[in-house]
Amino acid sequence: MSPADPGRAEAGPSPRAAIVSVGTEIVGGDQVDTNAAWLARRLRSLGVRPRLTVAVSDDLDELVDGLELALARADVVVVGGGLGPTSDDRTREAVAQVTGRALSRRPELVEAIEDRFASFDRRMPPSNRVQADLPEGAVAMPPVGTAPGFSLSIDEVDLHVLPGVPWELRALFDRHVADPVAARSGGRRELTRVVHVAGLGESDVAEALADVEAAAVADHVEVAYLATRGGIRVRFTAAGHDRDDVAARAGAAVDAAVGVLGTAVVGLDHDGLEVAVVRALEAAGRTVAVAESATGGLVLTRLTDVPGVSAVLRGGAVVYATETKATVAGIDPALLDAHPAVSEPVTEALAVAVRARFGADLGVATTAVAGPDEQDGVAVGTAVWAVADEHGSAVWSRHLPGDRSAVRDRLASAAIDAIRRRLASS
Ligand code: ATP
Ligand code: MG
Repeated sequence: MSPADPGRAEAGPSPRAAIVSVGTEIVGGDQVDTNAAWLARRLRSLGVRPRLTVAVSDDLDELVDGLELALARADVVVVGGGLGPTSDDRTREAVAQVTGRALSRRPELVEAIEDRFASFDRRMPPSNRVQADLPEGAVAMPPVGTAPGFSLSIDEVDLHVLPGVPWELRALFDRHVADPVAARSGGRRELTRVVHVAGLGESDVAEALADVEAAAVADHVEVAYLATRGGIRVRFTAAGHDRDDVAARAGAAVDAAVGVLGTAVVGLDHDGLEVAVVRALEAAGRTVAVAESATGGLVLTRLTDVPGVSAVLRGGAVVYATETKATVAGIDPALLDAHPAVSEPVTEALAVAVRARFGADLGVATTAVAGPDEQDGVAVGTAVWAVADEHGSAVWSRHLPGDRSAVRDRLASAAIDAIRRRLASS
């Protein structure tokens, strides 16, 4: 993390935002607050700095508390949830109480909700009428689902209240909230570019980028490193009022990082490792097949998440039980007598065999002792992956850190990256 404020090239502090997520299921941990994460990113891109996220239960007093805190701390407050028609939907009431503005029914909103129900061949239940009760002075957002949202300014604070259903919240935000928020920030924009790196540790990446980082910070670009199981993400964030200048400063930092890191960079922005591998296979006109033991389908799942993969993926098999490595993938059973299932000879043979079995140009294979117990004298965390093509095969064995799911995720990433590196070197 650099100490630089990406906005310091500009005059005046950026407006502060607070997010209030309403729902007992969120406070209780049954539902991850994905709305807050989405809103925070959107607010940042619109030049507003998220300062506070609070989650409150559906209880009226707690909702009032949360709203008061948010309104006291921020210039822009976005509330998500509690706009439904049932007795546990108290957001309208809480806003009325906090702002001292009475609720009154908006006939045109009742009609809009009725229309929404009619559009999916239903009659609006009478209980839904309460969703048209808005505080005095509020500007209504007609529903895209069945819940209307609304905006209200209190003193210097802009309050935007949205339904909790994620797709409705996003649609109403983009339609009715984004422009006023952008105006509030005076057209200031924040842009984050991401460089995805594979095969290097976080400190290796940071060391390699020391000069790039210094230049970026001098240019008011914030640099952050994020270690994920798929590799390291380096984030470059620039802010300012001139869209082209913001893009140019972030872009210059990205170009400099790519120049230093070379083939360790697997993709930019939304295109991570899987996308890079599929595009590289497409460009080379080659196909791949996968034999997975410990990763149990993770490699295939990640590859098939990429649109267009059908042109380059022949298929694969999860060969979990030891004998299926011979009966299904087709390796020599004698190998399984001579070596543990998690070993370099077995994994390399799997890559070779699956390539032949599926008629692919490349074969890739994974085995590991993911834990919690060791297996055939092989330690927990031992992970082996291999790749094969018409020129031969290669195999790697490493002790990977973390629990069972971390070992599996890291192994899947290593195997997918092995495809990319094999293509780059052939
Ligand atoms: P609405 O204002 O649209 O009526 P609500 O809070 O009254 O929203 P709920 O029935 O409580 O509606 O929630 C609708 C769905 O949206 C649920 O599946 C809920 O888990 C989900 N949801 C609500 N808030 C969030 C959030 N912050 N992040 C992710 N999902 C959420
Ligand atoms: Mg709710």
